[in-house]
Amino acid sequence: MKKEKIEFVKSKVRNIPDFPVKGIQFKDLTTAFKDSESLRIMCDALTELYKDKGITKVVGIEARGFIFGAILAERLGAGFVPLRKPGKLPAKTIKKTYTKEYGDDTIEIHEDAISENDVVLMHDDLLATGGTMAAALDLVRTMNPKEVYINFICELVDLKGRALFPDVEVTSLFDFEGE
Ligand code: AMP
Repeated sequence: MKKEKIEFVKSKVRNIPDFPVKGIQFKDLTTAFKDSESLRIMCDALTELYKDKGITKVVGIEARGFIFGAILAERLGAGFVPLRKPGKLPAKTIKKTYTKEYGDDTIEIHEDAISENDVVLMHDDLLATGGTMAAALDLVRTMNPKEVYINFICELVDLKGRALFPDVEVTSLFDFEGE
């Protein structure tokens, strides 16, 4: 994928200072999603990254990970699995509680969502500290998939979230400096 195209998408991301709390530079990707050219460039770039990996399930993390999780699943000929906040999934789940910057959070996945034959791509919009994805990875790994990959649209490099995944291939389309 041409660098200019990725730079075009990056230019569409809106920075919101002090949201949701003072001191956070919130990267608002909705402005990159609403531009049709930017949306198509992201779809093509992400498809290109994973089209030869034999992905059978894409796991999207609630809520912003659902957007591209579902698009990517369809593009890759894979199934889509939602990883949700507590109490939302109707059947039997497994769950994990983890510590975030501002208190604890819990995520859940259906216990039959993934099988040992699956090659899983886990997706969220943005990698910050990596805490959410690390908890999600723990959950998915309890189901023993054949292989796991991790992808984000963008990454806040200074937070070094990648360090939490030394044994997994992690990709993002572009990054931002700062926290
Ligand atoms: P993490 O610290 O990697 O666990 O981030 C958790 C979630 O919060 C990710 O799914 C992101 O969507 C969101 N998030 C964290 N920091 C930011 C930020 N600066 N801008 C936009 N989204 C963020």
